[in-house]
Amino acid sequence: MSFDSLGLSAPLLKAVAKKGYAEPSPIQEKAIPVVLQGKDVLASAQTGTGKTAGFTLPILQLLSQTQQSHKRQIRALVLTPTRELAAQIFDNVKEYSEFIDFRSAVIFGGVNQNPQIKAIKNGLDLLVATPGRLLDLHNQGHLSLSNIEILVLDEADRMLDMGFLRDIKRIMELLPKRRQNLLFSATFSKDIKKLANSILYQPVMVEATPENTTAEKVSQRGYKVDRGRKAELVIKLISEGNWSQVLIFMRTKHGANNLTKKLLKKNITAAAIHGNKTQGARVKALSDFKSGKIRVLVATDIAARGLDIPLLPHVINYELPNIPEDYVHRIGRTGRAGASGQAISLIDFEEYEYVRGIEKLLGEKLQSETVPGFDLENIPSPPKQERGRRNPNKPKKKQGGGNRNGNNNRGNRR
Ligand code: AMP
Repeated sequence: MSFDSLGLSAPLLKAVAKKGYAEPSPIQEKAIPVVLQGKDVLASAQTGTGKTAGFTLPILQLLSQTQQSHKRQIRALVLTPTRELAAQIFDNVKEYSEFIDFRSAVIFGGVNQNPQIKAIKNGLDLLVATPGRLLDLHNQGHLSLSNIEILVLDEADRMLDMGFLRDIKRIMELLPKRRQNLLFSATFSKDIKKLANSILYQPVMVEATPENTTAEKVSQRGYKVDRGRKAELVIKLISEGNWSQVLIFMRTKHGANNLTKKLLKKNITAAAIHGNKTQGARVKALSDFKSGKIRVLVATDIAARGLDIPLLPHVINYELPNIPEDYVHRIGRTGRAGASGQAISLIDFEEYEYVRGIEKLLGEKLQSETVPGFDLENIPSPPKQERGRRNPNKPKKKQGGGNRNGNNNRGNRR
């Protein structure tokens, strides 16, 4: 199938051609015609599927077909959980709207609001926003949402995880009742279904990959390794495999900083990206990673969520996420846009319980093995009744060798 057959206008096709896309991705093929028909959409799509163009292109077309008032009012609102994601969507909107008369802006917290207010005052067709800053500027009287014709909730599951439900509900009250709604989510918990039911009107279901399964081309492998030797194993994998672009997921900011230091000591260029980093530092780390200036990006889940990193060949789960759905999100960062990828999970004794949760969600076994030279020391395969987390009150067995000093960096989450 080609983009030409989706019903998009010539200036939009020109922008798509400029991006170099040969054909629409499955989510684009399914979502674009439905959105063009003005229908509500409930889309199951993780990042990396091309979902951004899937909603942006038809929205641009719909809005450029209809009359604008002489003073441009915001007619489309894209809500998204993180600043990085907001900035990326905005970049996409700018690229796809290059050949039409269209104005857009992005607003998110953590930065000076004045340039954002200025952009809004100039008149806009589309606004990309994180919920908190949107409400903030609305409460200060800097913007009106009473002309919104199309609403997009992007990464809706993550917005709920981040506690934005109340903000979303407040924003809904500010929008006109009659509007088109598009909801994108990688997973479908009960809460997401409830939210979808309250917002969408007779939605068309669109799926990019079957619910809660990982992208097909990703090869997944687990390495059982002692906790204290994980950094050493990461360094070995990256250096011996000569990997040039690796995204490593950590559970904590502290852990991300520590690992970054260890990599740098071994002359592996790396940067950490997490909630304590300034916006400037995050943007720089991401652009250095994309341009190949640094080989490794060490990220917490929230910071990494939705990052637009095309063709990522390697993802390492330094620690397994305790929420199985997060595993699916993380793996979604590789094997993007048709390229194959490799996802490696480092599994220590305490994480066996997470493996079971992930396997249950995936409906398949996660193959795991030990790397020669990294055999588990003095830790037998756990008998069934001991598989849970170690009892903190129980004295630890003396461990021989290795650096298993109980360094627990799990307290300081994200
Ligand atoms: P997204 O899931 O929207 O974050 O997009 C993931 C990546 O795929 C981005 O780098 C897009 O530029 C790229 N992409 C989007 N649509 C296509 C397409 N039809 N063909 C190739 N790459 C695409």
